[in-house]
Amino acid sequence: MPDANIKVRLEHVTKQFEGAATVTALDDVSLDIAEGEFVSIVGPSGCGKSTLLRLVAGLHEASSGTVRIASSEPDRPKTAMVFQEHALFPWLSVRENVMFGPRNRRVPKAEAARIADEQLARLGLATFGDFYPHQLSGGMKQRVGIARALAQDAEILLMDEPLGALDAQTRTLLQEQILELRQESQPTVLYITHAIDEAVFLSDRVALMTARPGRIKDIIDIDFPAASRRPELRGTEEFAALAQDIWEHLRDEVQAAMAMERP
Ligand code: ADP
Ligand code: MG
Repeated sequence: MPDANIKVRLEHVTKQFEGAATVTALDDVSLDIAEGEFVSIVGPSGCGKSTLLRLVAGLHEASSGTVRIASSEPDRPKTAMVFQEHALFPWLSVRENVMFGPRNRRVPKAEAARIADEQLARLGLATFGDFYPHQLSGGMKQRVGIARALAQDAEILLMDEPLGALDAQTRTLLQEQILELRQESQPTVLYITHAIDEAVFLSDRVALMTARPGRIKDIIDIDFPAASRRPELRGTEEFAALAQDIWEHLRDEVQAAMAMERP
């Protein structure tokens, strides 16, 4: 990858699933994500968003085209994933769940525990290390999932509708926590969401996808100055105008996806 600050590069990526009928989930998708950039993908359900993320995570192989990740350090994990439904180990405590990534990299136990407690504290969970997942609310489990991904210290954070299963108020609060993380440490993030307002609130760029087969229809720059990235941003006219503009671009695709679902 020639451009020094490009972290992820998808070039002409197509993904087909072979089965009784071949499904083209992604068709000729090209996308660059720069180091420290927060890029969201929005698009109708079934358009290939999760497939795209799984390709970047190395969980799928492209049918054609290339997915490349620039890694700065050979031992650093390339990606860490946050799923929509917390995928925590129920038999491990919250701290042990977050220690899992560092322990996998053979970080000594005491250091892994320190890393876990640090990430839990960032997410407002400092006092919950000894709890078990079943003792937590849905929002807390998602925060543990985010802490666990952060503890992996990966080059790229992949988030697949991480707030999709939460109620509106919890989601609003967690959006603000993710915004804070973004402001603090500028991670490179590929973020999938159904919610246009969430994408506008958090992202540097928003990629809109078409109904299946998923293509990138448009990429919208979200140029709010860094200092304006605060919860109050949501109440501004500029914010509403951008969200509306994105919806105008997306409406046809959502309609097309719905038509495909009809028997
Ligand atoms: P999204 O996350 O945007 O809702 P997905 O990436 O999950 O969409 O799926 C895109 C399309 O690919 C869908 O039609 C889905 O049924 C199909 N698909 C996804 N994963 C598989 C798989 N492992 N095998 C077969 N088809 C799949
Ligand atoms: Mg999905």
